[in-house]
Amino acid sequence: MQTTNNPFSTPHSQVSDTRPGLVDRFGRSVSYLRISVTDRCDLRCVYCMSENMQFVPRSQLLTLEEIVRVAKTFVALGVNRIRITGGEPLTRSNIMKVFRELGELDDLKDLTLTTNGTQLTKHARALHEAGVSRINISLDSLRPDRFRRITRVGQLDKTLAGIDAALDAGFNKVKINAVMLKHINHDEAVDLVEFARRRGLDISFIEEMPLGLIDDHLRVDTYYSSNNILADLRRRYELIATTEKTGGPARYYRMSDSNSRVGFISPHSHNFCDSCNRVRLTAEGLLLLCLGQEHSVDLRRVVRANPADDEALRNAIVQSMQLKPKGHNFDLNTREVILRHMNVTGG
Ligand code: SAM
Ligand code: SF4
Repeated sequence: MQTTNNPFSTPHSQVSDTRPGLVDRFGRSVSYLRISVTDRCDLRCVYCMSENMQFVPRSQLLTLEEIVRVAKTFVALGVNRIRITGGEPLTRSNIMKVFRELGELDDLKDLTLTTNGTQLTKHARALHEAGVSRINISLDSLRPDRFRRITRVGQLDKTLAGIDAALDAGFNKVKINAVMLKHINHDEAVDLVEFARRRGLDISFIEEMPLGLIDDHLRVDTYYSSNNILADLRRRYELIATTEKTGGPARYYRMSDSNSRVGFISPHSHNFCDSCNRVRLTAEGLLLLCLGQEHSVDLRRVVRANPADDEALRNAIVQSMQLKPKGHNFDLNTREVILRHMNVTGG
């Protein structure tokens, strides 16, 4: 798409390449889309879901064709990074079709995936061939009993096999994501970093966010800050702060004797909203303008009302930038939480 005569080029856009760009009312450029392709999952992590979850009826999900259509429209409007997530994205039938189609878009510089790893032995090679550049794999514990405790139903071996499958398939940018919970797994930071170092992986530690009502614990009781983890790790390693970015909110540290980076995603202790560059699409087609707020636009309605014409969809996306809030208001001490669970939001 050219900027010339383009109705979206001003005032919401800025010219970075030949496409217009999406800019919100605080001047933040939105170049990153996360797509939750399903809210379903084969695990039930205690910080993400309650034990009995109601999932969206399949008939209400965007079809794979609709997901690709919305994604392509975002790319035409200047988005150059897309992460596929969920729920567990690799449990959605025929999801490889989405990866293959998006992998062919020249203007998409970075197509990435967040997964729990359980299905990677089946799909890693095809994901690599489709052009996925990086994979984040969630791994909160290396102890089988704890892994089961945290995921409720998971088997550690499957996720470890998935990590190996990603490396064997040729991915050289694999990152571990670990949510650290006080009294549940907070003492495993060093073991997880050792695991990452042995395999040449990056690792990010994530502070638990108050998204969705859960029944396993009170989030205020399990809060373990990034600063605590950093202090634990510094007893073992010399960690050197860097200014490196991978396009996300993580702050990275390096070690002199390893290529692995250690990152921290700290919504509570280091708010990252000022540099927010992203929006999220739920599996039902709701465009979420902020991880921690309810502002949204129903793109499924727009897509279905205009099956043969993308102009209304482009307009809706451009206008949605005006709704993007300044930031989240996460507060572990109140009982007010965002009712949407992370599997719906698309972490
Ligand atoms: N199922 C995939 C996985 O687990 O990687 C992708 C979806 S999951 C929602 C994406 C990421 O969100 C995971 O790294 C998970 O640990 C994280 N996550 C889920 N609930 C969270 C919460 N309440 N606070 C912080 N991170 C959370
Ligand atoms: Fe599933 Fe990922 Fe949520 Fe765990 S964090 S329940 S793997 S969606």
